[in-house]
Amino acid sequence: MDVCLVNMPLASLSRPSIALGVLKPMLARAGIAARVLYANLWWVEYVGARHYATFLAPRTEECLIDWLFAGAAFPDFAPDHDAFLDMLFINHPDLFGEGEPAGRALLLELRAQMPDFVDWTARRVLEHEPRIVGCTSTFQQHVASLALLRRIRELDPSVATLLGGANCETVMGRTTHASFPWVDYVVSGEADGLIGDLCAAILRHGSDVPRDLLPPAVFAPAHRRDGYPRVDSGDGYARGTTADLSTVPAPDYDEYFFDEVHRFLYRDFVRPGLPYEASRGCWWGAKSHCTFCGLNGGGMAFRSKPAEQVIAEIDGLVDRYGSRRISTVDNIIDVKYFDSVLPHFAAAERKLNIFFETKANLKKSQVERFKRSGVNWIQPGIESMHSECLRLMRKGVAAWQNVRLLKWCRQYGVFAFWNVIAGFPGERDEWYAEMASWLPLIEHFQPGTFSQLRFDRYSPYFTRAADYGLALRPCRQYAHVYPLSPQDLADQAYFFTEPELALVKHLPERPGTRAVLDLMTRWKPHWPQLRKLELVHDGEATFVLDTRSCAKRERHPVDATDLLLLDACDAAIGDAELSDAVQAHGLAADDVAAHLAALLDAGLILRLDGRLLSLVLDRPEAYAPGIEFPGGSWLYRNRSAEHAADRDANADDALDPVQGA
Ligand code: SF4
Repeated sequence: MDVCLVNMPLASLSRPSIALGVLKPMLARAGIAARVLYANLWWVEYVGARHYATFLAPRTEECLIDWLFAGAAFPDFAPDHDAFLDMLFINHPDLFGEGEPAGRALLLELRAQMPDFVDWTARRVLEHEPRIVGCTSTFQQHVASLALLRRIRELDPSVATLLGGANCETVMGRTTHASFPWVDYVVSGEADGLIGDLCAAILRHGSDVPRDLLPPAVFAPAHRRDGYPRVDSGDGYARGTTADLSTVPAPDYDEYFFDEVHRFLYRDFVRPGLPYEASRGCWWGAKSHCTFCGLNGGGMAFRSKPAEQVIAEIDGLVDRYGSRRISTVDNIIDVKYFDSVLPHFAAAERKLNIFFETKANLKKSQVERFKRSGVNWIQPGIESMHSECLRLMRKGVAAWQNVRLLKWCRQYGVFAFWNVIAGFPGERDEWYAEMASWLPLIEHFQPGTFSQLRFDRYSPYFTRAADYGLALRPCRQYAHVYPLSPQDLADQAYFFTEPELALVKHLPERPGTRAVLDLMTRWKPHWPQLRKLELVHDGEATFVLDTRSCAKRERHPVDATDLLLLDACDAAIGDAELSDAVQAHGLAADDVAAHLAALLDAGLILRLDGRLLSLVLDRPEAYAPGIEFPGGSWLYRNRSAEHAADRDANADDALDPVQGA
């Protein structure tokens, strides 16, 4: 085998790696044979499914998996484990359900076992006799990948080692390369356009490709000797970019579907999804970079595949692998697809279950098109329900648009992942108090989650920290993971913190954020069965059924004027527009004003941002029965008596931070 591409922990079990799935056919185009190996599945067999479920609880920036593998990657590094575990258990006091002392002991024991796992994995990889071993590293895969490549180097120094992925972009990749000499090549940025040339050169020249044969955006042994090349953009280091996305082939997931999942010990708990990439970058971010968003690194420019290619590739993946769950990894849907890709899947006999990320300013017809096309799950980038906060983020939407989208998603039975992020520089707690004053009115819509802002590399908060009054430092956990100097740690880290930001320090104690957090926590258990606000036409009369906890009555009788007002406010309009709309029906202004006041008082219409938005659903469509998250599901938690079922958490055993998109 020329190349083995390895997916190390922590990576989702319930879907193959799209990064490696795309590199394999790119290598094939260059005449290079590659095999993708899923060591992330092997690891779950090693630690046990019960422990794996627990590892999903901490946030990515808590670095638990990186810490677990740090002993294998850096055997001479002896950080203060107690200090690391103190930070972990403050946030997760009963991580393993057996009390903190037992949890700490278990983690230390598992950490001590990781060198054995890495050694076993390295030997298993080397059985394929590769000449190159490469790992993809995103979020918490970095230290496990470094550990594997180090062991590969020790066992067979003739094998060239290669690392890429989001954790290797620009200065992070340079730092990894400069700090860990057992990694021969590090690819910064998008690798698909250069992997063929790079691996061809490595196969010819081994672990020391001459500098002039190296593609740009690759850090190589020659640079350790002669210095790293600098560029005039970003943080000074190059990144690979594929300008024409139509040159990127459909991913090859053969190893995952035809080999690994079949023999996986816990295969009965896996409902695999099919990741697919139709576009890269973000057309909104290219215009107005959301202040907190670190996605895309230096590759914000939006690029998308032609619609006919998207259709053919998705159909081909479904034909080959038999799963109808398509999880696009795009940051934001190309709006052209509403009139090209989506109608194809709406008309197709074979119904798919698709996930897309989108901007929240959708029209009602676009939400309906999602539903008819099988897009049952979306992530619309809702990060607040207060327009001032959204302005701080430069999200380009207002709170009324976010509420309206949640309503239409509930109307058509489309799941929408959303969240309220708190802790933005310049935010005011009274905004959260204002949010909390009306949030109970929408508890018949899908609940979201509440989280604290994190500062990511490449976000405007990072690149222009001084403008925002921020003095960012790498999250404290990194110092317990990497044996690096403070400067190198700052260059390696992706997640940052601002310990002195007063507003963030005491989020749970602030009355406004506390109120929002409490509301959102209480929301989920009652939805969707117990909370309704919808028109009922029972043959004789029409009324609004209201089972929200804030309901003033369970049945609100509505007459023709009420229905007219509710309809006029479906998409949210201002008072003047409403006045124009009802005047056409010849209604007396006083009468309209009285009806509107009553609807506002009953919470059937919400006044927000100077607009009037009806919150009432009209014969809402049910969610598709038994529908599962297209990104794949890891069902172990639902079946375990020891772990409470949690649909949202289970829906995505993922590992991705909620922030972004
Ligand atoms: S948060 Fe979403 S919309 Fe904003 S720049 Fe990032 S990817 Fe684009």
